[in-house]
Formats: sequence, structure tokens, C-alpha cells
Amino acid sequence: MGQAIQLAKNTESIQQGKTNFDINDFDLNDSDREDFDNYVDILFVLEKSGSMQAYIEQAKYTICKIVEKFKNKEYDLKFSLCTYIDHEPQSQILTDFTDLCSGQQIVKILHTVIATGGGDLPEAVMDGLRDGITKTSWRKTVIGKDEKSQRFLFHICDAPPHGEEYGYPSIDKQWSINGCPCGTKREDIKNLLQLHDIQYFLIKPNDYISKMEQLFKECFGDYYKDTINLCENVQQIDSKTKMWEGVLSNIEKNVS
Ligand SMILES: [Zn+2]
Repeated sequence: MGQAIQLAKNTESIQQGKTNFDINDFDLNDSDREDFDNYVDILFVLEKSGSMQAYIEQAKYTICKIVEKFKNKEYDLKFSLCTYIDHEPQSQILTDFTDLCSGQQIVKILHTVIATGGGDLPEAVMDGLRDGITKTSWRKTVIGKDEKSQRFLFHICDAPPHGEEYGYPSIDKQWSINGCPCGTKREDIKNLLQLHDIQYFLIKPNDYISKMEQLFKECFGDYYKDTINLCENVQQIDSKTKMWEGVLSNIEKNVS
């Protein structure tokens, strides 16, 4: 969501995700992973509008923790990243994509990502998901055989897509009525998840995306694996811990 809206929001809930850590504390050298033929491809789709900085930090920390955890396991892990904001004139940046690479490389790229802008509350969620899924070079486990890598998509956002069914108006009335101006709908995303056999996880920092969560769940069916809820029990549990814990436990639970 945009910075103006961010200011209007309860700043406490935005600050809750703030984290400070040094990536040098992690041993991210994971080049020896390529010796294993059990491929795991992990796509992070990340909204980077003004209110998201704390969650970008958390995503970095989360990837560091994944790399560390899988260090001594026999998997070849790779990560891709698609960040998004919104269509013009709400934002000059629609999507930015980085194809599958090591955890170390993706953390370096996340270091350069700055949360900015965003205009109205809804963002180009559909573009982020579509570009992330269609641009990732999803791997096959054994060359020459049609066996797919294990594929995970973690979606981190604090704003819904355009379209009044998602609960919030866009500045452009046509976008509210018809949804994202590119015409991509959640059914298209579902078809892409199915085509590429990808397990979808939503990382949810607030209730602005509750309607989206519900509609995605209904639409994606079995491909919607879980919600990692960062807004539950924030008093008791550090939500920084919850993002990495939630992501890591879901990978461990679903990887074979
Ligand atoms: Zn769009």
C-alpha cells in the first residue's frame, strides 16, 4: 500500500516487523548444493510499496535461515524473486524479477530492494504472481525425464489486488470495477500454479488482505497450502521470528 496510507495506519503495526541483523552472521555459501539432484525451487513474490520495508528485512532473514537450516541436507535449493508495486500512474515500477539463483545471491539482491511509493491501497498483486511464476525457470529433477522440482511460492504483501471484491477501492474507478488493468485474474494465477505444480503460501502481516486470502483459498484449491499469519499474538511472539519459523516449518513439512 502507498506511503500516504501507511502514515494513516497504526504505525505500531508497521513497526512490529522491524528487525536488525547482520547477514555476516550467517554462512550463506551454499554452492556445494549443486551436487544434489533433489531440486527445490522457492519463489518469493514480494510487494515493495512504502509500507513493506520491515517485511523485506524479514524476508532476507528468512532466506538466511532457510539456507542455514538446509546446509547439511541433501537438497539443491534455489531461489527466485519477483517484487512488485503497481501499474502507472500509481507507481513507476510494476515488477522486477530475478531468476533462480543461490540463497546468497538472492539475499544480496534483497539488500538492494527499497520499499517505496504505491499510491492507492490496492497494488498489482496479480502482476507480481503472474510474472514470478511465468518467468521462473522451474527445474526438472532428472535431465531427460519429466520429473518436476519441488516448487514453493511464498507471497508477502500487505495490500490486496485491485477490484472491489477484494474489499478496498482503487483511485481509478475502472480498476475497482474491472480489477487489475492488465486483466490478470486470480483464476489465471490458479491455472499457472496448476500448470507448474507450485504450492502457494501467503505470508499475512495484517487484515487488509483477509478478503484476498479467502478468495485465493477458494480459487486455488489444493494449490493454496497455508497462510503464515504474522498478525496473530503479536504481543506474545516476535513476528520476525514468526515469518522465518512459518516459512521454514512449511518447507520442512512439505519437502520430500
Ligand atoms: Zn496488473
